[in-house]
Amino acid sequence: MSHDVAIIGGGVTGCAAAYFLKAAGVTKVCVIEPDPTYAKASTPVATGGCRRLFGLPENIRMSQFSIPFLKDFASHVAVDGYAPDVQWRERGYLFVVGAGHDKALEKNYRLEKELGVNVELMDRAAIAARYPWMRTDDLAAGVLSPEDGWLDPNSVLQGLRKKAQAMGVEFIRDRVVDVYTAGARVSELELAAGPKVTADSVINAAGCWSGSIAKLAGMDLPVNPMRRFEHFVEISQALPPMPLIKDPDRLVIRPEGTGYSVGLVKSDEPRGFNFDVDPGWFQDVVWPACASRIPAFEALKLRREWAGLYDENELDGNMILGNWPGRLDNFYVACGFSGHGLMHAPAVGRALAELIVKGRFETIDLSRMGYRRVVDNAPYPETGII
Ligand SMILES: Cc1cc2nc3c(=O)[nH]c(=O)nc-3n(C[C@H](O)[C@H](O)[C@H](O)COP(=O)(O)OP(=O)(O)OC[C@H]3O[C@@H](n4cnc5c(N)ncnc54)[C@H](O)[C@@H]3O)c2cc1C
Repeated sequence: MSHDVAIIGGGVTGCAAAYFLKAAGVTKVCVIEPDPTYAKASTPVATGGCRRLFGLPENIRMSQFSIPFLKDFASHVAVDGYAPDVQWRERGYLFVVGAGHDKALEKNYRLEKELGVNVELMDRAAIAARYPWMRTDDLAAGVLSPEDGWLDPNSVLQGLRKKAQAMGVEFIRDRVVDVYTAGARVSELELAAGPKVTADSVINAAGCWSGSIAKLAGMDLPVNPMRRFEHFVEISQALPPMPLIKDPDRLVIRPEGTGYSVGLVKSDEPRGFNFDVDPGWFQDVVWPACASRIPAFEALKLRREWAGLYDENELDGNMILGNWPGRLDNFYVACGFSGHGLMHAPAVGRALAELIVKGRFETIDLSRMGYRRVVDNAPYPETGII
C-alpha cells in the first residue's frame, strides 16, 4: 500500500491532519488507527476547554484560528446532511491567581491584548464583585476571556473522522509495530496484521504512544503518559452561569449539564499507562479544593469520575511539531500537547498540511515548536499555565 501521507494515530490530531491534507489537495492519505472506539485515547476524555489564555504567541495564535473553526464546526465538516453539534458553550475562561503570580498573569494579558484577544484584567475586588459566590481573599488578580468556552470532544473527533473519510481518506484499522528507515527518510511502516505501508511522508500523531513509535525510527521524544482525572459532580443549588475557572491550585471547574465537570492537575503524577481511578484523590484533594474556592461545593454528589492521559512533554509542556531535518526528513511528529491538544487540533492539522505540501509554515510560524529545541535541550515553556 503506497500513500502520499500516512498518519499514525486517528485521534483528534490525526483526523485534523487528514482533513487539512485533503483540503490542501493531497490525493492519497491514510490514517492507521487500531481502535475505532478510542477506549484509551486522550481525545474523548478531555474536558473540552478551548481558550486563548496563553503566554506564548504561537499558542494564542493557534487558538485564534482553532476556536472560530470549532465554533463553526458543522459548516466545515458537514457531510451528507450530517452536521455534528459540538455543543459549543461560549461562557468564557477565567484564570485567577494569588500574589506572586499576578505579574505573570498581567504579562500574558498584555500579550493577549496585543494579539487582539478580547480579555479583561481584574483585581481581587472586581473578581469578588462579579462572582460573589467565589472565595477571593487569597486571590490577587484574574483574567477573563469571555469568547472562550468548551465543547464536546468526542463530537469533534467523530466529525473530523467522518469528514476525512468522505473526502477520501482511508482509515486502516491496525497498529504500527515497526518503522523502517533508509538514509534520512522513513521508508516503510509495519502493521500488526496488515501489509506494509509506504508513504512519501509520515505523521506520528499517536498521542501518548508517539514516544515509543518515534523510538522505532531512532528519534527520542521527551513525551510520557501522565494520568489525569476528571470528575462530574452535582451540587444542591446551581450557581449562576459561570465561565470555566482555573485557580492557583490548578483546579478547573466548569458547568456541565445538570452539574459541574472538575479536575485538578497533579504534575508529579508517576508517568505510565495507568487508567485506574484513585478514589482518594477526589476525596482528599479535589473536593477540598473545590469547596475552598466555591463554598457551594462543600455539599456535593460525585456522580462519575474517570482517568485519561496527557501526552506530557517533559521538556517544556508544549507540543512538538515537525520533522527532524537531515535525520528524518519525511517523518513529522505532532505530540506532547500536555493538556491542550484538543483546542489546538485544527491549527495543528493545518500546520502539518502546510509543512508537507509547501515545505514551510504559511499561516502561523510554529518553527519554535519544532524538534530542534529537543535536540538542543532548549525548553520553550508556556507560562500561561500557572
Ligand atoms: C482528563 C483530560 C482532560 C483534558 N482536557 C483538555 C481540554 O480541556 N482542552 C484541550 O485542548 N485538551 C485537553 N486534554 C488534552 C487532549 O485530550 C489531548 O491533547 C488530545 O486529545 C490529543 O489528541 P491526539 O489525537 O494527539 O491523541 P489521542 O486522542 O490519544 O489519539 C492517539 C491515537 O493513537 C492511536 N495509536 C496508539 N498507538 C498506535 C500505533 N502503534 N499505531 C497506530 N495508532 C496508534 C491510539 O489508539 C489513539 O487513538 C485533556 C486530556 C485529558 C486526559
